[in-house]
Amino acid sequence: MTKTFLSLFLGFSVCTSGYCQSFEEFFADKTLRADYLFTGNKKNQSVVLDELKSMDGWAGRRSNLDKLPLSGNGQLTMVDKATGVVIYRTSFSSLFQEWLGENEAETLSKGYENTFLMPFPKKEALVTVELFNARHEVSASFTHTVRPDDILIKKIGAKNVTDHKYLLNNGSSEKCIDVVIMAEGYTKDEMQTFYSDAQKACDAIFSHSPFKENMKHFNVVAVASESADSGVSIPRENVWKSTAVSSHFDTFYSDRYLTSSSVNDIHDLLAGIPYEHIIILANTDTYGGGGIYNSFTLTTAHHSKFEPVVVHEFGHSFGGLADEYAYTDAPSPLYPYDVEPWEQNITTLVDFESKWSDMLPKGFASPTKITKDNYSSTEALGVYEGAGYSMKGIYRPVPDCRMRTNEAKAFCPVCQRALQRLIDFYTEK
Ligand SMILES: [Zn+2]
Repeated sequence: MTKTFLSLFLGFSVCTSGYCQSFEEFFADKTLRADYLFTGNKKNQSVVLDELKSMDGWAGRRSNLDKLPLSGNGQLTMVDKATGVVIYRTSFSSLFQEWLGENEAETLSKGYENTFLMPFPKKEALVTVELFNARHEVSASFTHTVRPDDILIKKIGAKNVTDHKYLLNNGSSEKCIDVVIMAEGYTKDEMQTFYSDAQKACDAIFSHSPFKENMKHFNVVAVASESADSGVSIPRENVWKSTAVSSHFDTFYSDRYLTSSSVNDIHDLLAGIPYEHIIILANTDTYGGGGIYNSFTLTTAHHSKFEPVVVHEFGHSFGGLADEYAYTDAPSPLYPYDVEPWEQNITTLVDFESKWSDMLPKGFASPTKITKDNYSSTEALGVYEGAGYSMKGIYRPVPDCRMRTNEAKAFCPVCQRALQRLIDFYTEK
C-alpha cells in the first residue's frame, strides 16, 4: 500500500502508462454521483448500488486521474469498458468500516450510505468499489456498469439549489479545490450565526500551514442548509430533532461521537454547488465531532475548542491523517502491529522507509524520549511511542501536533508534508 503511495508521487512528472490521459478524452464536463450501501457484519461485507445521479460541471481534479491520492480503507476505480484502461481512481474511509470494529458488528448486520462523486464518462465504463480490512486485504468488492445514455441516471442540481455564499473565491472549480461548509441544526433565523461560524472555521483552517501558504488553490463555500429545529439530536438525553442531515451524538454509543448516517441527504443539499470536500457545522455547544477521509467532517460550532477541533477533523477528512493520540496499552483493531498503516503520520515501523525516515538524520535512534524541554513541541522530529489510540507499538513524528491535542499550535512537519502532497496532487496541471 505504502509503496504505491511513494511511487505515485515519484511518478508525477512522467506518464507512467506510456501516454498522458487527458480529461476530455474520457469525460464530459459533468459529475456522476453514485450512492452505495455498504452492508454486512464483522464476518461478511458487501457493497450494493442504490442510485446513479448526474450534475452539470466537474469540480474535482483533472490531472492524476488514474492515480490514487492515498491508499485509504477503500478505493473506487473507473475503467473504460472497451479498452480496459483505468480512467479514474479515488480512495476513502467510511463510518461502516469503523463500525465493523464495534462489538455490535459480531452479531448484527447493518447498512450504511456512502456517496462518491466521479467525472462523468463519455463511453460505457465499469466502476469497482473495494473495501479493505485492517490488514489491507480486500474484504468486499463490487463492480457495476455505467452507461452514459442510461435514462435512469437522475439529473439533479439544476434548480432549488441551497442558498450559499463564497467565503473564499480564488477561481473556477476546475482549477481550485472546492470545500463546502454546511449548516446542521441552524433554523432559517439562525443563518447569520451560521455564516459567522463558517467564517471562523475557514479562518481557523487557513491560519494553519500548509493551508495558509496554499490559500490560492482553494474555494470555500458556506451552504445555508436549513433545519426545522435548532440544535442536534442527543440520544442519551432522549433529545431527537429534525435537522438538515439528521446528525446525532452517541454514534456507536460513544457520547462525543457526532456523525450523520444520512449521507444521501448531505449530497442532495449540495446538488448544484461545485464541491469536493465537506465540512458540516452543528449548531450546539456540546463537544464532539468526527472526520472521515474523503467523506466528511462534522463538528460542533459553539464549543470553546471549536477552532482546533474543526482543523483536526479536516486533517482526517481532507488529509487522510491519523489521530496521533493514544489512551490504551491494548493494540487498536484499526492498526495491527505487524501492518504499516497507510496514514502518513503514524508508523508501526514495519515500513518506516515509506514514512518520515527521510526527514531524520541517518542512524537516528528510535524511539525518541519525551523530555521536559520537548514535551509540547510540534517540531522536534523523531519517532515517539504512542499514536493511533495505542500507547505501545505505534509511533508519531513529534511530541505534539494538531492531530494529537487541541492545545498544539500547528500540524507537525510530517502532517504538513502529507497535506502539501495532497494539495499538489489535486491541483497539478
Ligand atoms: Zn502530525
